[in-house]
Amino acid sequence: AKVAGKNCHRFYSRAMDQAVERRVRMEQDLRGAWERGELSLAYQPIYRLEDRRLVGAEALLRWHHPEYGAVAPSVFIDVAEQSGLIETIGPQVLRAACMDAVEWRSDFPGNDLFVSVNVSPRQLRSGDLAIQVEQVLAQTGLPADGLHIELTETAVIGDEQRVSGLLARLRDAGIKVWLDDFGTGFSGLSHLRRVPVDGVKIDRSFIADVLRDPDDLALTTAIIAMAHSLGITVVAEGVEKEGQYDVLRERGCDLAQGYWLGYPMNGHDFRGLLA
Ligand code: C2E
Ligand code: CA
Ligand code: CA
Ligand code: CA
Repeated sequence: AKVAGKNCHRFYSRAMDQAVERRVRMEQDLRGAWERGELSLAYQPIYRLEDRRLVGAEALLRWHHPEYGAVAPSVFIDVAEQSGLIETIGPQVLRAACMDAVEWRSDFPGNDLFVSVNVSPRQLRSGDLAIQVEQVLAQTGLPADGLHIELTETAVIGDEQRVSGLLARLRDAGIKVWLDDFGTGFSGLSHLRRVPVDGVKIDRSFIADVLRDPDDLALTTAIIAMAHSLGITVVAEGVEKEGQYDVLRERGCDLAQGYWLGYPMNGHDFRGLLA
């Protein structure tokens, strides 16, 4: 038994070493990936539910590794976050997304699309996001209403005072701030009292079961009513079926995105939607 235990321990530590090694290698590969052209943005269209008008897009980072091909964002963004690389990549994403939104607006005038950019917890804590954002808007010429920022609840937790000051500055400048993955954290509702946001994105785990599970429908309906009573916009993500779209529209949800409406696509294909 002793020997088996020892082997077992050795097996696990070796497996752990491998996991650590993989992360370290991924971190090395990720360094400079933007400059080498391996990183790009995909855009997922966002529609107004009422009339299914295209109103904007969420920018989603993609990594094409020269050897392994596409790497899952959930994996490499975590590595970027843990290693601090997100502090370099984040601003690059922000600038590229704003540059694209400027083009959409000049090529298709009258269609004032916005781009929604994900900002990670670490990015929010490092440096001054408000100054960074204002510089990017000035340099790209994108009006403030062309940029939305998405934050997760975890980015906000524990640091409410500083974060709400920062958000107030962004919102004073005219940038909309959305709380992402809303409903997954237990403290979601109480946060809305202390952290000023313009919108909440209902997590797709609620939308997934909205047609089958009365509890998820009740929660979704309650989130919509509560947000509206606070003057907050509601965005549904993960709309994969027409029935989900219909029920969300009936309940007064404002905006939606999801595979049924459009997959994340490259910038060229997104511009094709506008023509
Ligand atoms: P997220 O912000 O919740 O983004 C939505 C995710 O849901 C995207 O996954 C999108 O492809 C996926 N999705 C969209 N519609 C549907 C649908 O109908 N059904 C299902 N099952 N999934 C759908 P993706 O692109 O893999 O991104 C994963 C996460 O990586 C994002 O989750 C976000 O947290 C993070 N991420 C992506 N780009 C960036 C970035 O530029 N910066 C930061 N900090 N995080 C990013
Ligand atoms: Ca998001
Ligand atoms: Ca989300
Ligand atoms: Ca459920």
